Amino acid sequence: MRNKGETGEAQNMIIEKIRKIAGDENVIVLGTGPASAMADEPAGCRPGDFMAGVQSLLCFGIPVPLEAYGSKKYSLEIVWRSQNLLYRRLDTLALRFSGLLEENGFRSMPTYGCMPLGVNQKGAVVGYLNQVRMAEITGMGVIGKNGLLLHPRYGSRLMLGGLLTTASLPAMHDPDVKAPGCPSDCHVCSDACPVNAIVPEKKQVRIMRCLSYTARTPAMSRLKFFFLRMRNKLDAARYMSITSFDEHTFHICSRCVSLCPYGDRQ
Ligand code: SF4
Ligand code: SF4
Repeated sequence: MRNKGETGEAQNMIIEKIRKIAGDENVIVLGTGPASAMADEPAGCRPGDFMAGVQSLLCFGIPVPLEAYGSKKYSLEIVWRSQNLLYRRLDTLALRFSGLLEENGFRSMPTYGCMPLGVNQKGAVVGYLNQVRMAEITGMGVIGKNGLLLHPRYGSRLMLGGLLTTASLPAMHDPDVKAPGCPSDCHVCSDACPVNAIVPEKKQVRIMRCLSYTARTPAMSRLKFFFLRMRNKLDAARYMSITSFDEHTFHICSRCVSLCPYGDRQ
């Protein structure tokens, strides 16, 4: 068994290895933070609900290219393809980093972007760990009125990956930048939302209202989903996960991201 000093050295060494891999993989934003900072998340969605002895969060992100949102033609398709490829890349990296931690004597669990989905008591579709919150705690930005992470340079365009671990990772934010948050007089996202799904004062999106409008999932029968949701929420969530992930869902709206002036568009 390692003594305390050796454990600290091991954790510093792991962070340096992760930084090196992240640099080689062109992961632009990376940070760590304490898992205890998510203790105020709803019961069932806290890091400790998934892993005994969890100490740290690691989060990282890669932006969708700005011009994907600005393209004069096929912007939605280009964003869709970019996001799907980035999710795979980020989730694969989360697996790789988790393996690295495990090989060095710490437990670790990847937290995939959007996966798996759950259905809460009110029947709304929810994620299982709030990755946007993880990103805020790990110093990557602040949550905006559109409910997304706002990075000082990349605005709402960052796609996120992450993990939980029993290692006490040293505090680290690459790059070390401060995000001021939404200007108080900006309402671009909530004004642009075609279904009034954004609640800016709570920094939240009414997810079912948003999804009902924007999501196109040809492989999923809405009737079957509603029937399953009445009978067994876990079955409904799994059905949605199987039929909706990755390129199985096309979104016809991304106005709350594409019109957000935050970051390098300012
Ligand atoms: S994606 Fe579209 S529908 Fe959903 S919250 Fe953003 S603007 Fe509204
Ligand atoms: S559009 Fe304005 S209010 Fe909405 S998230 Fe972007 S900066 Fe914040």
